[in-house]
Amino acid sequence: MMTRDDCAARDGADPLAPLRQQFGLERVDREGVIYLDGNSLGVLPRATADRVRQVVEEEWGAGLIRSWNQAGWITLSQHIADKIARLVGARPGEVIVADSTSINLYKVLSAAVAIATQTDRRRIVSERTNFPTDLYIADTLARSLGFELVLVEADEIAARLDDRLAILLLTHVNYRTGRMHRMATITRAARDAGALVIWDLAHSAGAMPIDLYAGGAVNAAADFAVGCGYKYLNGGPGAPAFAWAHPRHTARMDKEGWRQPLSGWLGHAAPFEFTPDYRPAPGMARFACGTPPILSLAALECGVDTVLAAEQHGGLSVIRQKSIALAGLFIELVESRCAGHDLTLVTPREPDQRGSQVSFAHETAGYAIMQALIARGVIGDFRAPDILRFGLTPLYTRFVDVWDAVDRLEHVLASGEWREPRFSVRALVT
Ligand SMILES: *Cc1c(COP(=O)(O)O)cnc(C)c1O
Repeated sequence: MMTRDDCAARDGADPLAPLRQQFGLERVDREGVIYLDGNSLGVLPRATADRVRQVVEEEWGAGLIRSWNQAGWITLSQHIADKIARLVGARPGEVIVADSTSINLYKVLSAAVAIATQTDRRRIVSERTNFPTDLYIADTLARSLGFELVLVEADEIAARLDDRLAILLLTHVNYRTGRMHRMATITRAARDAGALVIWDLAHSAGAMPIDLYAGGAVNAAADFAVGCGYKYLNGGPGAPAFAWAHPRHTARMDKEGWRQPLSGWLGHAAPFEFTPDYRPAPGMARFACGTPPILSLAALECGVDTVLAAEQHGGLSVIRQKSIALAGLFIELVESRCAGHDLTLVTPREPDQRGSQVSFAHETAGYAIMQALIARGVIGDFRAPDILRFGLTPLYTRFVDVWDAVDRLEHVLASGEWREPRFSVRALVT
């Protein structure tokens, strides 16, 4: 079995190791904290505080309103969007950065529904275990526009690709189990069945190579996508999110003058003409709504840059290789060292079927075990009803971190310290 020295040797040979310097983890390291929750909130990049301070003190404090032009505030979101495009296989101008994932999903789903309304298909299919906000947004939109939302298990999706299906709405990597869909294969099957496909990349963008165009394969390019700025993109709590539409759709929107439902002034073709009538901006730009949050965008750019920095070290494919290795090690160590403590692996064992997290179920005490583990300095999280979730983020998670985390997990389980009543007190955020 792997020893801690073996893990240290792997860190020594890790081509991504220098990238850990991009993050201000000194205090976290000094306090002995091992952070395995970067899939939920990425860590703070070293550059962020100075950049945000510069925006506050110089651009806002001294530049005042002039900074919309002089500091490039008005084009900042598009500048960042073009960087994110590189991470998801999209082209410049095709991605926008704005609002939250929930809101962006509302906008692109509205676009898909508008297209589907021109057919007699009225069904949206998603996964029962999809992240709830996606389901809530889809359900409300479906109800208001005469569509139905049908929820199925992952292995039932193929059977639902029929002539009633209008839109297939899936999250690439499941937030609870870490199970990953074969994006190109499912997209092609759904599109061959005449449906539109929307991908939520919240748990995959920045963690692995993503190719919305499926390498140009016939009928395998996605229709729409959304994703999150504060997970693997390290953009900070509540960071702006992103959205993408295939250019065949935006071209048609241009032709038909289609407006997205949140038709605010910054999605207007000429906001500073201040006309009373709405005229959508061309292409993806119509999906903007109101004034962008400049402080949050400044932080988001620093986060996105930490991922793009990997391009010098092999890029997302090397990130993916390390992610697979970290998760494989985590699974191996937990199963060997924590055997007999009723933890059941719920993440697929096959690397090509999982994202960058590992989840274990514990039928009765998942929450308490996670709280006791956090008290021991290993930060993962808990997802009701029974999931202990561990995110593995190759830019800053080391092999020794995995070893130490499992060492502490074994201690928490073997000592039974998770049984202390304080570990069962539920906080607002789990
Ligand atoms: C994290 C996540 C979201 C977050 O949505 P917000 O609008 O940022 O709260 C949405 N969907 C999925 C699948 C997620 O994992």
